[in-house]
Amino acid sequence: MPIYEYICDDCNNQFELLVFGSDMPECPECKSGNIKKLMSACSFKSNSSNPGEAPKTSASSSACSGCSATSCASCSSG
Ligand SMILES: [Zn+2]
Repeated sequence: MPIYEYICDDCNNQFELLVFGSDMPECPECKSGNIKKLMSACSFKSNSSNPGEAPKTSASSSACSGCSATSCASCSSG
């Protein structure tokens, strides 16, 4: 069955839903129908006219200010 990923415009909640037919799902958090379907990460090329949207990061955002990783020399103070 197709599982799609959605993000809620109202509360920014990200969730996955099974989609049957053309039913428009709603946000499980705030019950809003104001949601957007997300593409899979593979097909997400820098082809959109929306450069303001930052990509989703899997790691916890604990990078130091000197780098974008979490394990550089200035990061390793923990
Ligand atoms: Zn919501």
